[in-house]
Amino acid sequence: MEKNFHSLPKNAKCTRCKKQAILRLPSHNAKFCRECFIHFFETAVIRAMKKIKVPKDTPIMVAVSGGKDSLVLWDILNRLGYKTKGIHIDLGIDEFSQKSIEAIEKFAKQRNLEWIKYDLKDFVGHSMVEIHKKIRRKICSFCGKLKRQLLDIATVAEGFKVVATGHNLDDEAGRLLGNLLGKRLQYVKKTYPYLPSPHPKIPAKIKPLYRLEIKEILIYAELNSIQPVEIDCPLSKGATSRKFKMALDLLEDQMPGIKRNFLFSYIEDNKPIDTFENYNECKICGYPTYLELCNLCNIKKQLSS
Ligand code: AMP
Ligand code: ZN
Repeated sequence: MEKNFHSLPKNAKCTRCKKQAILRLPSHNAKFCRECFIHFFETAVIRAMKKIKVPKDTPIMVAVSGGKDSLVLWDILNRLGYKTKGIHIDLGIDEFSQKSIEAIEKFAKQRNLEWIKYDLKDFVGHSMVEIHKKIRRKICSFCGKLKRQLLDIATVAEGFKVVATGHNLDDEAGRLLGNLLGKRLQYVKKTYPYLPSPHPKIPAKIKPLYRLEIKEILIYAELNSIQPVEIDCPLSKGATSRKFKMALDLLEDQMPGIKRNFLFSYIEDNKPIDTFENYNECKICGYPTYLELCNLCNIKKQLSS
């Protein structure tokens, strides 16, 4: 992996302990040595978990894609003493899926962590590549919905009540900007790192990395020899979510710290949602859904027609 920080001059002192600093975080106006950066990172996750209010002894299912965010998430939750199990949804995206699985296998083996894999194909009868060929349009939101339902199904089937994802500060701020610009105010009000379980078949969802930027996650990965999958999903080229993140990066360059202020001002004011619409049952499989069919049955129907 490319080095994500550059050594600072000999006289650069760590903001916290005054020893030699190895990296600078402009958005915090801070320089850190290795130990103090790890302390900073742990503190951000501890603060997130306080906000999320998941008791320390609640086992957490960690959704691992094999990318940097979810491997770092898994690592830090274990470091902080949470009981975890990894869950990977094999989407069947050729080399991308194979390399992702290899990265997870290696990571879990080194740390002796338990994990399980669910295959999209077992549920839908097709891989994501096959689905893409059949429906021939942008597939990210589709894929996201299927992944979420499979993660929910797997989490409950494995006996867990909470599933954690690796969404970080950049993901959440980008999504917030997109929702504001698209006037999707109902989602703006829901900007929060914790979504309680709305139904016995749907677990609570948490985002313990929401206080940490991509850059900080990459530094943590590098300092802890975490090796995520290096290739991007070939089906996600041109995803709109990237454009909002790029816009925020432009602002952040000029005004360090603005990205976190933007996100945190909404999170401070918002509360976790506690009222849910009444669920229907999917007409085909009985899974809770707001529509006639659940996402899995809906895609199966589209593919067979
Ligand atoms: P993404 O939507 O691809 O940016 O992923 C956001 C988060 O969803 C990741 O940090 C993971 O926690 C989770 N995730 C994404 N893809 C998978 C997958 N194939 N299997 C399990 N979890 C995933
Ligand atoms: Zn269904």
